[in-house]
Amino acid sequence: MTQHAIVWLRRDLRLGDHPALQAALDARLSPLFVYIDDPAGEGDWPLGAASRAWLRRSLQALDGDLRKRGSALLLRAGDSLTELRKLCAESGAAKVLWNRRYEPAVRKRDSEIKQTLLEQGIDARSFNGSLLFEPWTVQTKQDGPYRVFTPYWRQLEARWDSLPQAEPAPSRLPAAPAFASLPLDDVVPAPRPGWDAGFFQASAPGEQAALQRCREFLTRVGKYKEGRDLPAEDNTSRLSVHLAFGEISPRQIIAVAHELGLSYPSCAAFYRELGWREFSYHLMYHFPHSCEQDLTEQLRAMIWLPAKPDVLAAWQNGRTGIPIIDAAMRELWQTGIMHNRCRMIVASLLTKNLGYYWRHGADWFWDTLIDADLANNTQGWQWTAGTGADAAPYFRVFNPVSQGQRFDPDGAYIRRWLPELKSLDKKAIHAPWECNTHLNGYPDKPIVDLKASREAALQRYQHARRET
Ligand code: FAD
Repeated sequence: MTQHAIVWLRRDLRLGDHPALQAALDARLSPLFVYIDDPAGEGDWPLGAASRAWLRRSLQALDGDLRKRGSALLLRAGDSLTELRKLCAESGAAKVLWNRRYEPAVRKRDSEIKQTLLEQGIDARSFNGSLLFEPWTVQTKQDGPYRVFTPYWRQLEARWDSLPQAEPAPSRLPAAPAFASLPLDDVVPAPRPGWDAGFFQASAPGEQAALQRCREFLTRVGKYKEGRDLPAEDNTSRLSVHLAFGEISPRQIIAVAHELGLSYPSCAAFYRELGWREFSYHLMYHFPHSCEQDLTEQLRAMIWLPAKPDVLAAWQNGRTGIPIIDAAMRELWQTGIMHNRCRMIVASLLTKNLGYYWRHGADWFWDTLIDADLANNTQGWQWTAGTGADAAPYFRVFNPVSQGQRFDPDGAYIRRWLPELKSLDKKAIHAPWECNTHLNGYPDKPIVDLKASREAALQRYQHARRET
Protein backbone atom coordinates (compact mmCIF):
# COMPACT_ATOMS: atom_id res chain seq x y z
CA MET A 1 0.00 0.00 0.00
CA THR A 2 1.24 3.52 -0.87
CA GLN A 3 2.53 5.43 2.13
CA HIS A 4 1.67 9.13 2.09
CA ALA A 5 3.16 12.28 3.57
CA ILE A 6 1.00 15.37 3.75
CA VAL A 7 2.65 18.46 2.27
CA TRP A 8 0.76 21.37 3.80
CA LEU A 9 1.04 24.33 1.42
CA ARG A 10 0.68 27.89 2.62
CA ARG A 11 2.77 30.78 1.28
CA ASP A 12 4.96 28.41 -0.74
CA LEU A 13 2.78 27.85 -3.79
CA ARG A 14 5.47 26.30 -5.99
CA LEU A 15 7.23 22.99 -6.59
CA GLY A 16 10.89 24.01 -7.01
CA ASP A 17 13.12 24.73 -3.98
CA HIS A 18 10.45 23.27 -1.73
CA PRO A 19 12.12 21.63 1.28
CA ALA A 20 8.87 20.15 2.66
CA LEU A 21 8.12 18.42 -0.66
CA GLN A 22 11.74 17.34 -0.95
CA ALA A 23 11.58 15.77 2.52
CA ALA A 24 8.56 13.70 1.46
CA LEU A 25 10.33 12.51 -1.69
CA ASP A 26 13.59 11.80 0.19
CA ALA A 27 11.60 9.59 2.60
CA ARG A 28 10.12 7.78 -0.46
CA LEU A 29 6.63 8.82 0.55
CA SER A 30 3.91 9.83 -1.86
CA PRO A 31 3.16 13.56 -1.28
CA LEU A 32 -0.44 14.60 -0.69
CA PHE A 33 -0.63 18.32 -1.40
CA VAL A 34 -3.21 20.24 0.61
CA TYR A 35 -4.09 23.93 0.89
CA ILE A 36 -6.34 24.79 3.84
CA ASP A 37 -8.12 28.12 3.86
CA ASP A 38 -8.08 29.11 7.53
CA PRO A 39 -8.47 32.90 7.93
CA ALA A 40 -9.09 32.54 11.68
CA GLY A 41 -5.60 31.03 12.05
CA GLU A 42 -4.00 34.21 10.69
CA GLY A 43 -4.79 36.27 13.81
CA ASP A 44 -5.51 39.93 13.04
CA TRP A 45 -4.08 39.66 9.53
CA PRO A 46 -6.18 37.34 7.34
CA LEU A 47 -5.39 38.00 3.66
CA GLY A 48 -6.99 41.18 2.29
CA ALA A 49 -9.35 41.27 -0.68
CA ALA A 50 -6.71 41.99 -3.35
CA SER A 51 -4.36 39.26 -2.12
CA ARG A 52 -7.22 36.75 -2.07
CA ALA A 53 -7.91 37.50 -5.73
CA TRP A 54 -4.27 36.64 -6.48
CA LEU A 55 -4.39 33.58 -4.21
CA ARG A 56 -7.34 32.16 -6.16
CA ARG A 57 -5.41 32.19 -9.42
CA SER A 58 -2.18 31.09 -7.78
CA LEU A 59 -3.93 27.98 -6.46
CA GLN A 60 -5.28 27.28 -9.96
CA ALA A 61 -1.78 27.65 -11.41
CA LEU A 62 -0.29 25.32 -8.80
CA ASP A 63 -2.98 22.70 -9.39
CA GLY A 64 -2.17 22.92 -13.11
CA ASP A 65 1.55 22.39 -12.43
CA LEU A 66 0.75 19.42 -10.19
CA ARG A 67 -1.58 17.84 -12.76
CA LYS A 68 1.10 18.12 -15.44
CA ARG A 69 3.27 15.98 -13.17
CA GLY A 70 0.56 13.43 -12.40
CA SER A 71 -0.62 14.80 -9.04
CA ALA A 72 -3.25 17.35 -7.92
CA LEU A 73 -4.00 19.87 -5.17
CA LEU A 74 -6.51 19.11 -2.42
CA LEU A 75 -8.45 22.11 -1.15
CA ARG A 76 -9.92 22.28 2.31
CA ALA A 77 -11.31 25.05 4.51
CA GLY A 78 -11.59 25.48 8.27
CA ASP A 79 -9.37 24.98 11.29
CA SER A 80 -5.95 23.84 10.06
CA LEU A 81 -5.31 21.27 12.79
CA THR A 82 -8.75 19.70 12.40
CA GLU A 83 -8.32 19.42 8.64
CA LEU A 84 -4.79 18.00 8.90
CA ARG A 85 -5.93 15.38 11.40
CA LYS A 86 -8.87 14.43 9.18
CA LEU A 87 -6.56 14.03 6.20
CA CYS A 88 -4.12 11.93 8.25
CA ALA A 89 -7.02 9.67 9.27
CA GLU A 90 -8.35 9.40 5.69
CA SER A 91 -4.98 8.72 4.07
CA GLY A 92 -3.11 6.91 6.83
CA ALA A 93 -0.31 9.50 6.49
CA ALA A 94 2.03 9.52 9.49
CA LYS A 95 4.02 12.56 8.36
CA VAL A 96 2.94 16.19 7.94
CA LEU A 97 5.51 18.52 6.38
CA TRP A 98 5.39 22.25 5.82
CA ASN A 99 7.58 25.25 5.14
CA ARG A 100 7.75 27.78 7.94
CA ARG A 101 5.91 31.08 8.27
CA TYR A 102 6.97 33.83 10.63
CA GLU A 103 3.89 36.00 11.31
CA PRO A 104 3.40 36.03 15.11
CA ALA A 105 -0.14 34.55 15.18
CA VAL A 106 0.74 31.92 12.58
CA ARG A 107 3.91 30.91 14.44
CA LYS A 108 1.89 30.35 17.59
CA ARG A 109 -0.75 28.33 15.76
CA ASP A 110 1.82 26.26 13.88
CA SER A 111 3.77 25.36 16.99
CA GLU A 112 0.54 24.22 18.69
CA ILE A 113 -0.29 22.13 15.62
CA LYS A 114 3.18 20.59 15.60
CA GLN A 115 3.01 19.71 19.26
CA THR A 116 -0.47 18.16 19.01
CA LEU A 117 0.44 16.10 15.96
CA LEU A 118 3.67 14.88 17.57
CA GLU A 119 1.73 13.88 20.71
CA GLN A 120 -0.55 11.84 18.47
CA GLY A 121 2.37 9.98 16.95
CA ILE A 122 2.42 11.93 13.68
CA ASP A 123 5.82 13.08 12.54
CA ALA A 124 5.29 16.85 12.03
CA ARG A 125 8.21 18.81 10.63
CA SER A 126 8.79 22.33 9.35
CA PHE A 127 11.48 23.69 7.03
CA ASN A 128 12.87 26.97 5.77
CA GLY A 129 11.35 27.56 2.36
CA SER A 130 11.11 31.33 2.14
CA LEU A 131 14.15 33.02 3.68
CA LEU A 132 17.84 33.00 2.85
CA PHE A 133 18.75 33.13 6.55
CA GLU A 134 16.59 32.05 9.46
CA PRO A 135 16.02 35.03 11.79
CA TRP A 136 17.64 33.31 14.78
CA THR A 137 20.87 32.58 12.88
CA VAL A 138 21.80 36.24 12.35
CA GLN A 139 22.99 37.84 15.57
CA THR A 140 24.95 40.85 16.75
CA LYS A 141 28.26 40.41 18.61
CA GLN A 142 26.22 40.65 21.82
CA ASP A 143 24.08 37.68 20.63
CA GLY A 144 21.02 39.83 20.14
CA PRO A 145 18.88 40.68 17.15
CA TYR A 146 19.87 43.48 14.80
CA ARG A 147 17.88 46.72 14.78
CA VAL A 148 19.94 48.53 12.17
CA PHE A 149 20.04 47.38 8.56
CA THR A 150 23.62 48.17 7.49
CA PRO A 151 25.50 45.91 9.95
CA TYR A 152 22.82 43.24 9.48
CA TRP A 153 23.34 43.37 5.73
CA ARG A 154 27.14 43.18 6.11
CA GLN A 155 26.71 39.87 7.94
CA LEU A 156 24.37 38.51 5.25
CA GLU A 157 26.77 39.49 2.48
CA ALA A 158 29.64 37.73 4.26
CA ARG A 159 27.57 34.52 4.37
CA TRP A 160 26.14 34.76 0.84
CA ASP A 161 28.49 32.16 -0.66
CA SER A 162 27.41 29.55 1.87
CA LEU A 163 23.74 29.64 0.82
CA PRO A 164 22.29 26.24 -0.07
CA GLN A 165 21.35 25.55 -3.69
CA ALA A 166 17.73 25.62 -4.84
CA GLU A 167 16.40 22.15 -5.72
CA PRO A 168 14.64 21.98 -9.11
CA ALA A 169 10.95 21.03 -9.25
CA PRO A 170 10.42 17.27 -9.69
CA SER A 171 9.43 16.40 -13.26
CA ARG A 172 7.00 13.60 -12.20
CA LEU A 173 5.02 13.02 -9.03
CA PRO A 174 3.09 9.99 -7.73
CA ALA A 175 -0.62 10.10 -8.63
CA ALA A 176 -2.89 11.84 -6.10
CA PRO A 177 -5.56 9.56 -4.64
CA ALA A 178 -9.15 10.85 -4.76
CA PHE A 179 -9.52 12.24 -1.25
CA ALA A 180 -12.25 14.81 -0.77
CA SER A 181 -11.38 18.26 -2.09
CA LEU A 182 -13.62 21.35 -2.02
CA PRO A 183 -14.36 23.29 -5.21
CA LEU A 184 -12.16 26.38 -5.54
CA ASP A 185 -15.28 28.60 -5.54
CA ASP A 186 -16.14 27.40 -2.03
CA VAL A 187 -12.62 28.00 -0.73
CA VAL A 188 -11.64 31.30 -2.36
CA PRO A 189 -14.73 32.68 -4.11
CA ALA A 190 -14.23 34.67 -7.30
CA PRO A 191 -14.38 38.45 -6.79
CA ARG A 192 -16.92 40.61 -8.63
CA PRO A 193 -16.26 40.22 -12.39
CA GLY A 194 -13.71 42.75 -13.62
CA TRP A 195 -12.84 44.02 -10.11
CA ASP A 196 -9.42 42.36 -10.19
CA ALA A 197 -8.69 42.69 -13.92
CA GLY A 198 -5.80 45.13 -13.37
CA PHE A 199 -4.03 42.80 -10.93
CA PHE A 200 -2.82 40.40 -13.60
CA GLN A 201 -1.54 42.79 -16.23
CA ALA A 202 2.09 43.03 -15.11
CA SER A 203 2.51 39.35 -14.28
CA ALA A 204 0.44 36.18 -14.06
CA PRO A 205 0.15 34.10 -10.88
CA GLY A 206 2.13 30.89 -10.50
CA GLU A 207 5.66 29.54 -10.42
CA GLN A 208 6.18 29.47 -14.20
CA ALA A 209 5.23 33.14 -14.58
CA ALA A 210 7.40 34.04 -11.57
CA LEU A 211 10.47 32.31 -13.01
CA GLN A 212 9.86 33.86 -16.41
CA ARG A 213 9.54 37.35 -14.89
CA CYS A 214 12.68 36.74 -12.84
CA ARG A 215 14.70 35.72 -15.94
CA GLU A 216 13.41 38.61 -17.96
CA PHE A 217 14.23 41.11 -15.17
CA LEU A 218 17.70 39.72 -14.45
CA THR A 219 18.76 40.04 -18.08
CA ARG A 220 18.45 43.82 -17.58
CA VAL A 221 19.45 44.01 -13.91
CA GLY A 222 22.17 46.50 -14.91
CA LYS A 223 19.50 49.21 -15.07
CA TYR A 224 18.27 48.48 -11.54
CA LYS A 225 20.64 50.61 -9.47
CA GLU A 226 20.02 53.82 -11.39
CA GLY A 227 16.48 53.12 -12.50
CA ARG A 228 14.81 51.61 -9.43
CA ASP A 229 13.47 54.94 -8.17
CA LEU A 230 11.63 55.94 -11.35
CA PRO A 231 7.98 54.91 -11.05
CA ALA A 232 7.17 55.53 -14.74
CA GLU A 233 9.69 52.88 -15.82
CA ASP A 234 9.76 49.11 -15.52
CA ASN A 235 13.19 48.85 -13.88
CA THR A 236 12.43 46.80 -10.77
CA SER A 237 11.84 43.06 -10.59
CA ARG A 238 8.11 43.15 -9.73
CA LEU A 239 8.71 39.86 -7.95
CA SER A 240 7.14 41.00 -4.68
CA VAL A 241 3.77 39.35 -5.29
CA HIS A 242 5.46 36.11 -6.36
CA LEU A 243 7.65 36.22 -3.22
CA ALA A 244 4.65 37.00 -1.00
CA PHE A 245 2.87 33.84 -2.16
CA GLY A 246 6.05 31.80 -2.34
CA GLU A 247 5.60 31.24 -6.09
CA ILE A 248 9.33 31.86 -6.21
CA SER A 249 11.88 31.66 -3.40
CA PRO A 250 14.90 33.96 -2.93
CA ARG A 251 17.15 30.91 -3.47
CA GLN A 252 15.48 30.32 -6.84
CA ILE A 253 16.11 33.97 -7.78
CA ILE A 254 19.80 33.55 -7.01
CA ALA A 255 19.83 30.27 -8.99
CA VAL A 256 18.40 32.08 -12.03
CA ALA A 257 21.14 34.73 -11.71
CA HIS A 258 23.73 31.91 -11.68
CA GLU A 259 22.13 30.29 -14.74
CA LEU A 260 22.43 33.61 -16.56
CA GLY A 261 26.08 33.84 -15.53
CA LEU A 262 25.55 37.03 -13.50
CA SER A 263 28.23 37.85 -10.95
CA TYR A 264 27.44 39.02 -7.39
CA PRO A 265 28.51 42.65 -8.07
CA SER A 266 26.21 42.92 -11.08
CA CYS A 267 23.24 41.99 -8.89
CA ALA A 268 24.45 43.65 -5.65
CA ALA A 269 21.96 46.55 -5.59
CA PHE A 270 19.08 44.14 -6.22
CA TYR A 271 20.30 41.58 -3.66
CA ARG A 272 20.45 44.37 -1.09
CA GLU A 273 16.67 44.78 -1.48
CA LEU A 274 16.23 41.05 -0.94
CA GLY A 275 18.30 41.80 2.17
CA TRP A 276 15.66 44.34 3.25
CA ARG A 277 13.07 41.60 2.93
CA GLU A 278 15.20 39.34 5.15
CA PHE A 279 15.63 42.22 7.61
CA SER A 280 11.85 42.79 7.77
CA TYR A 281 11.38 39.12 8.70
CA HIS A 282 14.22 39.37 11.22
CA LEU A 283 12.44 42.29 12.90
CA MET A 284 9.01 40.63 12.82
CA TYR A 285 10.43 37.45 14.33
CA HIS A 286 12.38 39.14 17.12
CA PHE A 287 9.89 41.96 17.83
CA PRO A 288 6.50 40.38 17.18
CA HIS A 289 4.65 43.27 18.85
CA SER A 290 5.81 45.50 15.99
CA CYS A 291 3.04 44.26 13.68
CA GLU A 292 0.53 46.02 15.93
CA GLN A 293 2.45 48.78 17.71
CA ASP A 294 5.58 50.91 17.41
CA LEU A 295 8.71 48.79 17.28
CA THR A 296 10.71 51.18 19.42
CA GLU A 297 9.79 53.38 22.34
CA GLN A 298 11.40 56.45 20.83
CA LEU A 299 8.13 58.11 19.86
CA ARG A 300 6.00 56.90 22.78
CA ALA A 301 4.95 60.48 23.55
CA MET A 302 3.98 61.24 19.95
CA ILE A 303 0.66 62.99 19.44
CA TRP A 304 -1.00 61.32 16.44
CA LEU A 305 -3.93 63.29 15.10
CA PRO A 306 -7.43 61.77 14.97
CA ALA A 307 -8.03 60.50 11.43
CA LYS A 308 -10.85 62.41 9.72
CA PRO A 309 -12.90 59.94 7.62
CA ASP A 310 -13.24 62.29 4.62
CA VAL A 311 -9.49 63.06 4.56
CA LEU A 312 -8.58 59.39 4.93
CA ALA A 313 -11.01 58.55 2.11
CA ALA A 314 -9.44 61.23 -0.12
CA TRP A 315 -6.00 59.68 0.49
CA GLN A 316 -7.32 56.16 -0.17
CA ASN A 317 -9.21 57.14 -3.33
CA GLY A 318 -6.49 59.29 -4.88
CA ARG A 319 -8.34 62.60 -4.44
CA THR A 320 -5.92 64.62 -2.31
CA GLY A 321 -5.18 67.14 -5.05
CA ILE A 322 -1.46 66.24 -4.88
CA PRO A 323 -0.73 64.52 -8.21
CA ILE A 324 2.06 62.10 -7.29
CA ILE A 325 0.06 60.92 -4.26
CA ASP A 326 -3.15 60.48 -6.23
CA ALA A 327 -1.40 58.73 -9.11
CA ALA A 328 0.18 56.26 -6.68
CA MET A 329 -3.05 55.58 -4.77
CA ARG A 330 -4.92 54.97 -8.02
CA GLU A 331 -2.16 52.70 -9.28
CA LEU A 332 -2.58 50.73 -6.05
CA TRP A 333 -6.36 50.46 -6.43
CA GLN A 334 -6.23 49.40 -10.05
CA THR A 335 -3.20 47.10 -10.08
CA GLY A 336 -2.77 46.00 -6.45
CA ILE A 337 0.83 47.22 -6.62
CA MET A 338 2.58 50.51 -5.96
CA HIS A 339 6.13 51.47 -6.81
CA ASN A 340 8.45 51.55 -3.76
CA ARG A 341 9.34 55.24 -4.14
CA CYS A 342 5.63 56.08 -4.20
CA ARG A 343 4.92 53.86 -1.18
CA MET A 344 7.37 56.01 0.76
CA ILE A 345 5.86 59.28 -0.49
CA VAL A 346 2.23 58.36 0.26
CA ALA A 347 3.20 56.94 3.65
CA SER A 348 5.07 60.11 4.53
CA LEU A 349 2.06 62.26 3.63
CA LEU A 350 -0.24 60.14 5.79
CA THR A 351 1.97 59.86 8.84
CA LYS A 352 3.74 63.24 8.72
CA ASN A 353 1.72 65.89 6.87
CA LEU A 354 -1.63 64.46 7.97
CA GLY A 355 -0.23 63.22 11.29
CA TYR A 356 -2.19 59.95 11.29
CA TYR A 357 -0.93 56.82 13.02
CA TRP A 358 0.83 54.45 10.58
CA ARG A 359 -1.67 51.65 11.19
CA HIS A 360 -4.31 53.57 9.16
CA GLY A 361 -2.06 53.28 6.13
CA ALA A 362 -0.77 49.78 6.86
CA ASP A 363 -4.37 48.49 7.13
CA TRP A 364 -5.37 50.06 3.80
CA PHE A 365 -2.28 48.65 2.08
CA TRP A 366 -3.02 45.26 3.61
CA ASP A 367 -6.44 45.16 1.98
CA THR A 368 -5.47 46.60 -1.40
CA LEU A 369 -1.98 45.23 -2.16
CA ILE A 370 -1.65 41.95 -4.01
CA ASP A 371 1.89 41.68 -2.57
CA ALA A 372 0.73 42.38 1.01
CA ASP A 373 3.39 40.87 3.26
CA LEU A 374 3.12 41.45 7.00
CA ALA A 375 6.87 41.75 7.57
CA ASN A 376 7.58 44.12 4.66
CA ASN A 377 4.44 46.19 5.12
CA THR A 378 5.03 46.69 8.84
CA GLN A 379 8.67 47.55 8.31
CA GLY A 380 7.90 49.92 5.41
CA TRP A 381 5.27 51.83 7.37
CA GLN A 382 7.26 52.01 10.59
CA TRP A 383 10.41 53.08 8.72
CA THR A 384 8.51 55.96 7.09
CA ALA A 385 6.68 56.98 10.27
CA GLY A 386 9.96 57.00 12.22
CA THR A 387 8.68 54.47 14.78
CA GLY A 388 10.69 51.49 13.51
CA ALA A 389 14.21 50.20 13.86
CA ASP A 390 16.73 51.94 11.66
CA ALA A 391 14.05 54.55 10.99
CA ALA A 392 14.50 57.35 8.53
CA PRO A 393 15.42 60.39 10.60
CA TYR A 394 12.21 61.56 12.23
CA PHE A 395 12.68 65.00 10.70
CA ARG A 396 12.59 63.68 7.12
CA VAL A 397 9.25 64.74 5.66
CA PHE A 398 9.06 63.96 1.96
CA ASN A 399 7.88 66.89 -0.11
CA PRO A 400 5.58 65.18 -2.63
CA VAL A 401 5.98 67.97 -5.17
CA SER A 402 9.78 67.87 -5.26
CA GLN A 403 9.73 64.05 -5.08
CA GLY A 404 7.51 64.06 -8.17
CA GLN A 405 9.76 66.54 -9.97
CA ARG A 406 12.82 64.48 -9.15
CA PHE A 407 11.60 60.95 -9.79
CA ASP A 408 8.91 61.57 -12.41
CA PRO A 409 10.47 64.57 -14.16
CA ASP A 410 8.30 64.46 -17.28
CA GLY A 411 5.14 63.60 -15.35
CA ALA A 412 4.71 60.36 -17.33
CA TYR A 413 3.72 58.36 -14.25
CA ILE A 414 1.20 60.98 -13.13
CA ARG A 415 -0.35 61.20 -16.60
CA ARG A 416 -0.70 57.40 -16.73
CA TRP A 417 -2.88 57.28 -13.62
CA LEU A 418 -4.54 60.74 -13.65
CA PRO A 419 -6.09 61.17 -17.10
CA GLU A 420 -7.67 64.46 -15.88
CA LEU A 421 -4.20 66.00 -15.88
CA LYS A 422 -3.03 64.53 -19.19
CA SER A 423 -2.81 67.87 -20.96
CA LEU A 424 -0.70 69.63 -18.28
CA ASP A 425 2.94 70.29 -19.11
CA LYS A 426 5.76 68.78 -17.07
CA LYS A 427 6.05 71.82 -14.81
CA ALA A 428 2.36 72.33 -14.04
CA ILE A 429 1.62 68.63 -13.55
CA HIS A 430 3.41 68.40 -10.19
CA ALA A 431 1.59 71.36 -8.59
CA PRO A 432 -1.49 72.15 -10.71
CA TRP A 433 -2.93 74.51 -8.06
CA GLU A 434 -0.16 76.96 -8.93
CA CYS A 435 -1.30 77.35 -12.53
CA ASN A 436 -4.54 78.89 -13.57
CA THR A 437 -5.97 76.08 -15.63
CA HIS A 438 -9.03 73.87 -15.92
CA LEU A 439 -8.43 70.60 -14.10
CA ASN A 440 -11.30 68.45 -15.46
CA GLY A 441 -12.80 67.78 -12.03
CA TYR A 442 -9.47 67.16 -10.31
CA PRO A 443 -9.31 68.87 -6.84
CA ASP A 444 -8.17 72.46 -7.34
CA LYS A 445 -6.04 72.58 -4.20
CA PRO A 446 -4.20 70.07 -1.98
CA ILE A 447 -6.10 68.54 0.91
CA VAL A 448 -3.41 69.77 3.28
CA ASP A 449 -1.10 72.79 3.20
CA LEU A 450 2.21 71.05 2.55
CA LYS A 451 4.44 73.74 4.10
CA ALA A 452 2.38 74.39 7.24
CA SER A 453 1.74 70.68 7.84
CA ARG A 454 5.45 69.94 7.50
CA GLU A 455 6.25 72.52 10.20
CA ALA A 456 3.49 71.15 12.46
CA ALA A 457 4.80 67.61 11.97
CA LEU A 458 8.33 68.63 12.91
CA GLN A 459 7.01 70.26 16.06
CA ARG A 460 5.05 67.14 17.04
CA TYR A 461 8.09 64.95 16.42
CA GLN A 462 10.42 67.26 18.36
CA HIS A 463 7.94 67.34 21.24
CA ALA A 464 7.74 63.54 21.23
CA ARG A 465 11.55 63.18 21.22
CA ARG A 466 11.83 65.56 24.19
CA GLU A 467 9.06 63.91 26.21
CA THR A 468 9.90 60.24 25.55
P1 FAD B 1 12.46 45.20 -6.22
O1 FAD B 1 13.00 46.57 -6.09
O2 FAD B 1 12.68 44.49 -7.48
O3 FAD B 1 13.05 44.36 -5.00
C1 FAD B 1 13.12 42.93 -5.00
C2 FAD B 1 12.44 42.38 -3.78
O4 FAD B 1 13.08 42.84 -2.60
C3 FAD B 1 11.00 42.81 -3.63
O5 FAD B 1 10.13 42.02 -4.41
C4 FAD B 1 10.78 42.66 -2.14
O6 FAD B 1 10.52 41.32 -1.77
C5 FAD B 1 12.12 43.07 -1.57
N1 FAD B 1 12.11 44.49 -1.23
C6 FAD B 1 12.33 45.54 -2.04
N2 FAD B 1 12.27 46.69 -1.36
C7 FAD B 1 11.99 46.36 -0.08
C8 FAD B 1 11.81 47.11 1.12
N3 FAD B 1 11.90 48.44 1.14
N4 FAD B 1 11.51 46.44 2.26
C9 FAD B 1 11.43 45.10 2.26
N5 FAD B 1 11.61 44.34 1.17
C10 FAD B 1 11.87 44.96 0.01
N6 FAD B 1 6.83 45.00 0.07
C11 FAD B 1 6.08 43.87 0.01
O7 FAD B 1 6.54 42.87 -0.56
N7 FAD B 1 4.85 43.81 0.61
C12 FAD B 1 4.31 44.87 1.27
O8 FAD B 1 3.21 44.75 1.83
C13 FAD B 1 5.05 46.09 1.30
N8 FAD B 1 4.54 47.20 1.90
C14 FAD B 1 5.29 48.36 1.93
C15 FAD B 1 4.78 49.50 2.57
C16 FAD B 1 5.51 50.68 2.61
C17 FAD B 1 4.94 51.90 3.29
C18 FAD B 1 6.79 50.73 2.02
C19 FAD B 1 7.59 52.00 2.04
C20 FAD B 1 7.32 49.61 1.40
C21 FAD B 1 6.59 48.41 1.34
N9 FAD B 1 7.10 47.25 0.70
C22 FAD B 1 6.35 46.10 0.68
C23 FAD B 1 8.49 47.22 0.15
C24 FAD B 1 8.63 47.58 -1.34
O9 FAD B 1 7.92 48.74 -1.64
C25 FAD B 1 8.17 46.47 -2.28
O10 FAD B 1 8.73 45.24 -1.89
C26 FAD B 1 8.60 46.75 -3.72
O11 FAD B 1 8.03 47.96 -4.17
C27 FAD B 1 8.17 45.61 -4.62
O12 FAD B 1 8.54 45.87 -5.94
P2 FAD B 1 9.60 44.94 -6.67
O13 FAD B 1 9.25 43.51 -6.47
O14 FAD B 1 9.69 45.43 -8.07
O15 FAD B 1 10.89 45.28 -5.85
